[in-house]
Amino acid sequence: MGVPKWSRGSFVFRFNERIRAAGIKFPMAFFLGTEQMPWPFFQGGKTFMIIVLKPGHEDEDLHRLVRRLEDLGFRAHISKGEHRTIVGAIGDERSLREVPLESMPGVESVLPILKPYKLVSREFKPEDTVIKVDGQEIGGQKIQIFAGPCAVESREVLEEIAEALLPSGVHFLRGGAFKPRTSPYAFQGWGEKGLKFLDAVRERTGMLVVTELMDPRDTVLVCRYADIIQIGTRNMQNFRLLTEVGNIEKPVILKRGMSATIKEFLMSAEYILAQGNERVILCERGIRTFETETRNTLDISAVPLLKQLTHLPVIVDPSHAVGRADLVPAVSKAAIAAGADGLLVEVHVRPEEAFSDGPQSLRPRVFEKMIEECRLVATAVGRTL
Ligand code: PEP
Ligand code: MN
Repeated sequence: MGVPKWSRGSFVFRFNERIRAAGIKFPMAFFLGTEQMPWPFFQGGKTFMIIVLKPGHEDEDLHRLVRRLEDLGFRAHISKGEHRTIVGAIGDERSLREVPLESMPGVESVLPILKPYKLVSREFKPEDTVIKVDGQEIGGQKIQIFAGPCAVESREVLEEIAEALLPSGVHFLRGGAFKPRTSPYAFQGWGEKGLKFLDAVRERTGMLVVTELMDPRDTVLVCRYADIIQIGTRNMQNFRLLTEVGNIEKPVILKRGMSATIKEFLMSAEYILAQGNERVILCERGIRTFETETRNTLDISAVPLLKQLTHLPVIVDPSHAVGRADLVPAVSKAAIAAGADGLLVEVHVRPEEAFSDGPQSLRPRVFEKMIEECRLVATAVGRTL
């Protein structure tokens, strides 16, 4: 069998060898990443479960349960819904063996979370996560707009763009100081100088800054200037970077990898939450398909699907999804109709002069009109903008 040498010593490999030798077709690796694979196996005995309380339970039942869980070293998350109270719990599986939680007063059932993603799942936390940043809410009633140029170019141009966004009520100015470019010869961003431009425009306009982090070594620097950190599509599975932003105190916009499945996307978000940062915003930005008329294909169904599977806010980037300014307004309205909590849109005062992504950047006039139309759609689906 042509098995790479490096994996010969691994447990999974040895296990698979034995299973194959016994004539069983699907070795352990087959189950990796699927729901069949018990998560505690990889988590050193960590278990994730939900405890459903009986309707009309006493407050004391809930307090007793949470105290019990905490005494056992569990972390408990209480969700009080209209009809049900649910407690999500994470802890060491072994400490539960002797403790029959099911028989505690007020407890109806104890269920393991079977999905491979746990903390991001709706089972664990049924209510929507609303992320607060300096008085603004993401994931609440209001649809938030994150807009700006693809790259921070100069302080003057950035200022012009920011001023053009303000009349539409945009609170979040987005621009890259570190740019992930396909060509090493293309403009890579101004780095710290660009961050300083963003800082200056924030001072002047009061807008909040969203900017991309590409390298764990720049975390401290980027966090010094950013209100929200963006992780780009190419880094969705950069697990070192995800772990890094899991340990910071800033919200993170995680963009879907251009070839990532929904499950992989949620697993990447799980990396961030597993480290303790629960302020993650998921961004659908189009996936690669056979179509070449558009830059990517917006997976519109990802929006309601993600809203179903996770409590995290979901936003849509129509600009990178289609790569053409003329299609951005229609796609933005579709995103809001589908339930998106926000839009991330590229806007430039002179797209023809943009250092990057000019063809997909909206002129302020078009952007303004689009926001007016989006507002109507938002009202139609019971949201504000
Ligand atoms: C960007 O937001 O400018 C960007 C590079 O996006 P993506 O990572 O989705 O390609
Ligand atoms: Mn761009």
